[in-house]
Amino acid sequence: MAKVTVPSDQQAEQYQISPDYVRISMAAAIELGLKPGRINRCNCNCINLLQNYPEGCYANCTYCGLARERPGTPEENTFIRVAWPLYPTDLVAEKIAEREANGGVGRVCISQVQDHRAYDDLVDMIRRVKRPAPQVPMSALVSATTLNEERLHTIKEAGVDIIGVGLDAVTEELFEETRGRGTKGPHNWEYHWRIVRAAREIYGAMKVNCHIIVGLGETDKELVDMFYQLKEEQIAGYLFSFNPEPGTVMQDLSRSPIHRMRRIQLVKHLIENQNLPREALSFDNESSISRLDAPETMVEVAVNTGLPFMTNGCPDRAGEVACNRPYGSYRPGEEYRDYPFQPNANDLIVIRQQMRLEEVWANLNPVM
Ligand code: SF4
Ligand code: SF4
Repeated sequence: MAKVTVPSDQQAEQYQISPDYVRISMAAAIELGLKPGRINRCNCNCINLLQNYPEGCYANCTYCGLARERPGTPEENTFIRVAWPLYPTDLVAEKIAEREANGGVGRVCISQVQDHRAYDDLVDMIRRVKRPAPQVPMSALVSATTLNEERLHTIKEAGVDIIGVGLDAVTEELFEETRGRGTKGPHNWEYHWRIVRAAREIYGAMKVNCHIIVGLGETDKELVDMFYQLKEEQIAGYLFSFNPEPGTVMQDLSRSPIHRMRRIQLVKHLIENQNLPREALSFDNESSISRLDAPETMVEVAVNTGLPFMTNGCPDRAGEVACNRPYGSYRPGEEYRDYPFQPNANDLIVIRQQMRLEEVWANLNPVM
């Protein structure tokens, strides 16, 4: 990224930075009437906000468009591939309050980046949103490295009821390679887990989530192990699909094949909602799922609801998914990786073809 030479204590005069300014996802900007347009087939009801500093983010995650050592200017930064327009925080807070008074906002989420100002600014920004809209549910997608237990308490007192942690990689080795030591970045696996577990204690069961990216180089078995661990600890796991970001270290890596993504989505859903036992899954030499031994009714009912293939995200006040991040895991015009709406019968035909479940599902391939 182009080097920023202005010292941080003088940046507020020259740049539009947080806490006074905030980036907002395009879907949320449209939803609040800040941008024209509409997102196809999306009931977008989560206002996703992102802190803004000239340097982007001081971490150096190998897949991320905000990473420190990514080439390009700060203005070219993207976060999960979607341009995030910049607005005054108080204007966004005002629009949220207006919308809250006219039908309600599903949820607001503020994403931190890695920066020495990020914690203080997060608390300030939460308060600015809460002041005119005290009832709006708020999440904070935190950079665990900026936090400690006391800060988690303060964020809660400021009005956040759900903490999201970008774990992204599901093993220590992969985490260190993509986000930690291997990137000369500040993140550390053990410290992330300390913050995840502290947040779990402070915020409660299923009030903490870990973002998990499919396709960073992990095996199916490692993903499945993580799903069981999170379930046991009553921490939510929210799936994302790796999509190479131009200019990043991982720009040339391919995405996971779609059949893998679909099977992982289904298995995660069965583990979380149908108590799929570990023994129901077998893995081949490469630790890929080779067999799913689950009753027909369990699998068919789950697939037919379409729910396993929907975006995972924080809920609204009624418990429905609010944060559905259209274009978070795929680009406009590409096939859906996760659906920001409940798939209909036509979508389910496509999903079944993509999933090729007959290759692994024991019910269709009984052992003789
Ligand atoms: S900490 Fe988050 S925003 Fe910063 S480089 Fe890593 S993934 Fe990107
Ligand atoms: S799922 Fe959405 S609302 Fe929840 S922490 Fe993640 S980005 Fe924020």
